[in-house]
Amino acid sequence: MKDPIPRSRSISVRLALATLLVSVLVSVVVAAVQLELLYRQQLANANQLMEEVRRTFVPSLSAGLWTVDQGRVDLLMDGLARIPGVAYVRLDSEGKQLERGRPVAHPAIARNFALSYDEGGHVALGTLQVTIDREYMATRLRGASLRIALTTLAGLTSASLVLLLLFRYWITRHLERMADYARNVGIAQLATPLKLDRPPHRRQDEIDHMVFAFNQLRERMVENLAKRDKQEHELQAYRDHLESLVRLRTMTLQEQAIQLESQKLEMQRLAHTDSLTGLSNRRDFMDHLEAAIGSCVAGNQPLCALMLDVDHFKAINDEHGHAVGDRALVALAHACRQQLRDNDVIGRLGGEEFGVVLPRTDVGLAESVAERLRETISTLRVPDAGGGMLGFTVSIGLAELSGPHESASSLLLRADRALYQAKRSGRNRVIAAPREQA
Ligand code: GH3
Ligand code: MG
Ligand code: MG
Repeated sequence: MKDPIPRSRSISVRLALATLLVSVLVSVVVAAVQLELLYRQQLANANQLMEEVRRTFVPSLSAGLWTVDQGRVDLLMDGLARIPGVAYVRLDSEGKQLERGRPVAHPAIARNFALSYDEGGHVALGTLQVTIDREYMATRLRGASLRIALTTLAGLTSASLVLLLLFRYWITRHLERMADYARNVGIAQLATPLKLDRPPHRRQDEIDHMVFAFNQLRERMVENLAKRDKQEHELQAYRDHLESLVRLRTMTLQEQAIQLESQKLEMQRLAHTDSLTGLSNRRDFMDHLEAAIGSCVAGNQPLCALMLDVDHFKAINDEHGHAVGDRALVALAHACRQQLRDNDVIGRLGGEEFGVVLPRTDVGLAESVAERLRETISTLRVPDAGGGMLGFTVSIGLAELSGPHESASSLLLRADRALYQAKRSGRNRVIAAPREQA
């Protein structure tokens, strides 16, 4: 992440700039105050100078004038003019003027002294004017004020520089180090506590308190992260467990659904099938018969139905047992299935009685099919209980659909009557029902 705080905005630089600004202001004020004091000092000096003049030069000049000692007067006037700060000196005496220097437009101080002789009466000798130049004082003041300002500024600037360096050394670099630590913090960094580069044996300060608080925060974060990791692991394990349970449950449900589906299909099959022979049961046979009648009537095609009944079956059961009887029924069903076409329907109507539908088959063809069936069945052999082989015969009644209005039950009834005829006629034979008169 980019550091959003530019270096120039760092606290230490701002502090140094602020200190510098305050230094400049303070140095200006200090210089002004110093200047005022100096000005007053200068004025006091000038006044003192005037006092000196009054005390020393005035009596000497008065004496020079009284004794008319021109040489002494000139010497004193020269001396006066040479005093630093004295710009102009003028002596008025008995209409004569004596000047040194040049008159100034804005004197700092201009003072007139009366020259007199006072022994045995007061004799006025003239006046002495001494002018101290303002420019002289100003020049001195300017120099002094510049010096004061510069020394103050230099002192305060170096103080603020030292402040800047100390601030950086004591505070800012540690703050930056802490910011770096916080910025780059990751799980790996969290393992090591924050440690600042500071001398070990010294009194603790706010930075130490901050590092301590910082590390406490770090420890809490580490603890929370560990706690969160643990919770996440537990949650993941629980989620995995749930998922495996759901998978297992789904698999069980799918298996159960498959089982249910196959059970349903088996139930459906059983509902239409005879369990012993695997042929259509009576209800399924009747459905097929009706459907075949509908189709043949629509196509104007013939249809025949056969009724088969095992001859003396009761005797087989009685002699060889029910199981052998069952075996004979299964063998019969199997033989019929093999003999007949795919479109032909064969069903077990009850006990040892079977029905056959021969669609698109006229009575002539049906008779030959029935005969072939009878013949085949008569050659079947099933193992009996005594180790021998048992044969049996069937009687078959045949009826052809007499027209579009004849029902399935009527057709079967006629075939059944023909069967009865076959039984009556000696069994093991085929008898066709007479054609129904329309
Ligand atoms: P007929 O030649 O006149 O048909 O004589 P029959 O003995 O075959 O006829 P009947 O109706 O008197 O006997 C039928 C016997 O078939 C009676 C019953 O015990 C037997 N039966 C019916 N259903 C089954 C079966 O599923 N298995 C066996 N083994 N026998 C059955
Ligand atoms: Mg019977
Ligand atoms: Mg029978």
